[in-house]
Amino acid sequence: MLQIIEIFRSIQGESSLAGMPCVFVRLAGCNLRCSWCDSEYTFKGGRKMSSDEVMAEVARLATPNMLVEITGGEPMLQERELIPFIGRLLAAGYEVMMETSGERPLESVPKAVRKIVDVKCPGSGESARFCAENLNTLTERDELKFVLTDRADYEYARDFIRRHGLEQTGRELLLSPAFRKDANGSRTTDNCMLDPRELAEWMLADGLRARLALQVHKYIWEPQVKGV
Ligand code: SF4
Repeated sequence: MLQIIEIFRSIQGESSLAGMPCVFVRLAGCNLRCSWCDSEYTFKGGRKMSSDEVMAEVARLATPNMLVEITGGEPMLQERELIPFIGRLLAAGYEVMMETSGERPLESVPKAVRKIVDVKCPGSGESARFCAENLNTLTERDELKFVLTDRADYEYARDFIRRHGLEQTGRELLLSPAFRKDANGSRTTDNCMLDPRELAEWMLADGLRARLALQVHKYIWEPQVKGV
């Protein structure tokens, strides 16, 4: 059984596939407490669903070959049940991606899955939790994401990227301004903790080979709306 918060259809918001229609399977539970977390409602609760029930709900919402994203919370806390379930999604022909905090080892995730792996920066309060061995198990299709609150976070991300030679790997490196937890009605960058324009200027000044990534769903729907 999987502990599920919600299954819904929306637009993928924060990766190189941003903008693609996608079915999201959001799992319950997280062992981190990022200061800017916008998913605290996943920490508790949800409902138990069998793999068959989740597959049926995905099939109801998806079109053939559609993108399916596994997210949370932290999905890998349910690794034992999750990995066979991902195998079923792949066998059914779906394109599968997974968002993960980067704190759990990821070698058991099938290589066909595009993993979006966070590297937590100091502003999150969780920067010591990255599982460094994950850098050795990433595939070319995987992406690393840094959520940034300020200049110190940017420098942390830039130095991490350069220290590990990540610009030479060709892998997608996503730099994303954190959204305020109390973000309200307006669908504007005023809700970003770090002004994207400032981030763009820093990236250009440093010649950093990375992608400035905005959470596009928060500019399509109001930022406080859940299930989108
Ligand atoms: S890892 Fe994700 S779900 Fe967990 S606290 Fe951080 S932002 Fe929230």
